Amino acid sequence: MSEQHQSLAWQYADSDLANGSAKVIRTLIDHGYEAYWVGGCVRDEYMGRKVSDMDITTSALPEVTSTIFPKVIPTGIKHGTVTVIENGQPFEVTTYRVESGYEDHRHPTQVTFVRDVEEDLRRRDFTMNAMALGIDGAWVDPFGGRSDVDLQMIRCVGDARVRFREDALRMVRCIRFASVFGFAIAKDTWKGMLEVRDTLSWIAMERIRTEMDKMLAGPDPLRGLELIKKSGLYSKMKVPFPYVTDNPTIISAIPVVDTVQLDIRWALLIHGCGISSSEADKLLREWTFSNRRREVIMGLLSFQEAWFEQARGIDLAADRLLWINLVLKHGTDTAEAWILMQEGIQAVSKCLCNGVSLEQVRQWLEAMHIRSLKDLKLTGSELLQALNRRGGPWMGKVLQHLLVKSAAGFLPNDRDILIEEAKQVIEREEQ
Ligand code: ATP
Ligand code: MG
Repeated sequence: MSEQHQSLAWQYADSDLANGSAKVIRTLIDHGYEAYWVGGCVRDEYMGRKVSDMDITTSALPEVTSTIFPKVIPTGIKHGTVTVIENGQPFEVTTYRVESGYEDHRHPTQVTFVRDVEEDLRRRDFTMNAMALGIDGAWVDPFGGRSDVDLQMIRCVGDARVRFREDALRMVRCIRFASVFGFAIAKDTWKGMLEVRDTLSWIAMERIRTEMDKMLAGPDPLRGLELIKKSGLYSKMKVPFPYVTDNPTIISAIPVVDTVQLDIRWALLIHGCGISSSEADKLLREWTFSNRRREVIMGLLSFQEAWFEQARGIDLAADRLLWINLVLKHGTDTAEAWILMQEGIQAVSKCLCNGVSLEQVRQWLEAMHIRSLKDLKLTGSELLQALNRRGGPWMGKVLQHLLVKSAAGFLPNDRDILIEEAKQVIEREEQ
């Protein structure tokens, strides 16, 4: 079979990806082993969804795979996984295996390599994820994965209670898939989840967060959030998520915000649950958000709190100054993200930003020709020199004063004028 023909089998994968992985499979077969595409890529192709990575399952032992291919990374040899680089792309090639002894409801204590692809598929979580596709286009679908996809149904492979108890993360994956694909959850699978949900407390928050990220970035995050609530899983997490639809309007704005703006969606979720910014900081740390993401979300929450506490809508000049101060404090990126967040809220409600239109704040933002201290035409050392004074806390205060006045357009951003203003501020303070 020519490579060109092989890649034609894949309608939803880039040809580089399809050709590269086909080459890996073909090479394994040529060496006398079995090899298939497996898991998410096979499912996504069948569903007509974009395929983003292509995993391969094989009868070859990891040591063998490592010697067959010139470029490999020993990703997890003990668990049977070798990353093969082909066409400049990485492919995870994993030996058929079964797992046993899940003592902590997460990690199998034993991995055993097996000879039969069906045995490998049996260890996988859901029927739709337990399918393999051969180079000749033949399906290996022993648990009715395609039929469940047709029925739009998430179903565990085997006894749900057993499978969820083995690895409790599967419960959150189940809801994530149901939410992202708009699928129902099979009755037995749901019942099994309710029976063993306590085991979720064993799962590292980082893994749960990753699933929640995928769910929140999907097309119907509200359904996923409600399913987690209905299943009782929020309170079973090691760090429970205090999900209450305190402000349903804010929560319902989540899907309106572009999916690429995941952290705005998180900010809406946290805000909508009535969690204050100081509580949020603790929660985000415990939920293992990176510092960068935590700062983005915290910036949005603090901006939101300050605006709604202080903006009045009756004195535009005062609101404008508040806006300028907030932009200078949190930065342009946060201000722009905050506007997107308000757009989301306004799309589902008539809620105005405390009487000030988004048009207005956007104009104020555009008119700000300087956005931070580094835009000021006067540095700290220039200020010290010009005033012939020693540094101290006064300096930060004076620079901040110059920044606000200049950003508001009350003071030209000109070195001599700024120095003159600084002198006056200090004189006034010293009187
Ligand atoms: P995604 O679209 O998020 O990548 P995926 O199904 O590909 O979904 P991965 O985490 O990439 O998810 O896993 C690849 C495959 O490995 C799955 O399709 C499934 O067959 C298997 N798998 C992943 N996680 C588990 C798990 N916790 N328990 C059992 N099988 C799993
Ligand atoms: Mg995947």
